[in-house]
Amino acid sequence: MKCSFCDTEVEKAVRGPGMLFVCLECVEDLSVAEEKDIEGKCSFCGTEIGTVKGFFRSRKIKAVALHPINGTILCNECGKLCRDIVKYQVEA
Ligand SMILES: [Zn+2]
Ligand SMILES: [Zn+2]
Repeated sequence: MKCSFCDTEVEKAVRGPGMLFVCLECVEDLSVAEEKDIEGKCSFCGTEIGTVKGFFRSRKIKAVALHPINGTILCNECGKLCRDIVKYQVEA
């Protein structure tokens, strides 16, 4: 499989919907990535980057990864999910 963010062919990756993959190195990078406000939607969960109004409180959705060419976006919530998945897999 090919990582959707760094285009590297990898054996292990976190799989998103469709053919989206985040390699373990990119997941690692997410923990130090700067959260960005950009125009667009997360390619994994489809949430619009920006403020999402909830019933009780609003959530700030920011992009933590963005592919410079194909525009694949990963939001901070999916980034956290990816880290949790990797952590679980490593510890299991
Ligand atoms: Zn990658
Ligand atoms: Zn997302």
